[in-house]
Amino acid sequence: MRGGRLRGIVLAEIGPTGSLRYKAVNSCLLFLPMIHGKQLITIENLAYQKDGELILHPVQQALADHYGSQCGYCTPGMIMSMFALFKNVVDPTEEEIRTALAGNLCRCTGYRSIYQAALQACSQEGEDLFNEKEDAVLQQLYHIRQWNRAMNLKGKGQQYLLPFTLEEALSFRKAYPEAIVINGATDIAIRQNKQYEYFPFLLDLSQVDDLKIFYEDHGHWFIGAGLALEELTAISNDRIPSLYDILKVFASRQIRNAATAGGNVATASPIGDTLPWLMAMEANVHLHSESGSRVVPIEQFITGYRSTGLKEDELITLLSVPKPESGVITGCYKVSNRRDVDISNVSGVFRLTTAEGTIKKIRIVLGGMAAYPRRALKTESFLEGREWSRSTAEAAMKVLREEYQPITDARSSALARSLAAGNLLLKFWSENQHP
Ligand SMILES: Cc1cc2nc3c(=O)[nH]c(=O)nc-3n(C[C@H](O)[C@H](O)[C@H](O)COP(=O)(O)OP(=O)(O)OC[C@H]3O[C@@H](n4cnc5c(N)ncnc54)[C@H](O)[C@@H]3O)c2cc1C
Repeated sequence: MRGGRLRGIVLAEIGPTGSLRYKAVNSCLLFLPMIHGKQLITIENLAYQKDGELILHPVQQALADHYGSQCGYCTPGMIMSMFALFKNVVDPTEEEIRTALAGNLCRCTGYRSIYQAALQACSQEGEDLFNEKEDAVLQQLYHIRQWNRAMNLKGKGQQYLLPFTLEEALSFRKAYPEAIVINGATDIAIRQNKQYEYFPFLLDLSQVDDLKIFYEDHGHWFIGAGLALEELTAISNDRIPSLYDILKVFASRQIRNAATAGGNVATASPIGDTLPWLMAMEANVHLHSESGSRVVPIEQFITGYRSTGLKEDELITLLSVPKPESGVITGCYKVSNRRDVDISNVSGVFRLTTAEGTIKKIRIVLGGMAAYPRRALKTESFLEGREWSRSTAEAAMKVLREEYQPITDARSSALARSLAAGNLLLKFWSENQHP
């Protein structure tokens, strides 16, 4: 399950413009029906034989030219990530190449030659066998789409429910309250493939387009629960910089291509990276069942360690986030042992409004410091009404450190977490001394 062969694949699907959209994902985190209606491309599909000669794909050729191939474990995954980049971006920047490859590890050659290979392969719009076959593939995928109706798949000891509309999803949810809901499955699949749990009933929302939306209305951003985090990353890069700061260091592109906003909220994980931001922004969670809907502030929705107020016939459909007024400053930070593909030791979101150098309102939410991401209520009330100065920030660091009792675990000690949390507050002050 390491590196490439079993992991890095590309799925091509019908994109919003009607052409194929290629996404690198990790196959070990997918349940088989999740690839319904998509073209599955593995490392075995890239090279082909012509007149008895093996013709490598341009990304394979470039990797060979730059001596970037490694042991057989990592190279296939690296190639597939590079292939997705090749299909999506012409002449990528260094940052784009790094982002595309961040989910793949290399322990043999080092990254320089791999980076050079990606630079060469993607430098101009490359024709490949996939361009020639694109129309035929699209035709097939459109054909499959015609038959999209709710499916109830029965396998050995497992029933897999695959709805295509929200209506179908809610109906399954009511009929099978015991079913484990999945969307990107990046959290749940681990329980099956690493902890060997076997789920008798799965309700998969990954085909429900009604949940993959984003829009702005009445001073709010509305984020569909099924929107892939990679799409949210692209949207927030233009429109929501503070959210982008968190998403750009969320796992890897392969994970973000599958993982969803709703899935991150429903995990109620102490280190769920979008939760501190959503809480600091005073977001609401929209819940639907067959019998109605309700809207719950996210702070109330998260009720404890990995627990929420979700009822057994409900699904999360939408997150609504009030847009901040002008003059509000937001800082988002993630402290982890490695920059890419790592979970947080501590994360912090700070949202500040000042008036004439005085703190009018501040929201501080920390992840990794308690059983679930929590507001620093004592520190907030200590700060409000005081001057926004270094001495205030330093005094507040002490209050903040006393407010939480983090745990020691394999990732970090309690002391390191506590120190980091206080330091984030000082960092926020030093980056925004003159709001
Ligand atoms: C290698 C790796 C790296 C990771 N890195 C990070 C990281 O940096 N930061 C981070 O926060 N997380 C990280 N994660 C965890 C995971 O990717 C996220 O929590 C992700 O957002 C989960 O979304 P999903 O759609 O895949 O959820 P799923 O696995 O499908 O579901 C997760 C939970 O949400 C519930 N659920 C999903 N959708 C709905 C819905 N619409 N309504 C009700 N319940 C729902 C499910 O029942 C389940 O309990 C990582 C995971 C992996 C494997």
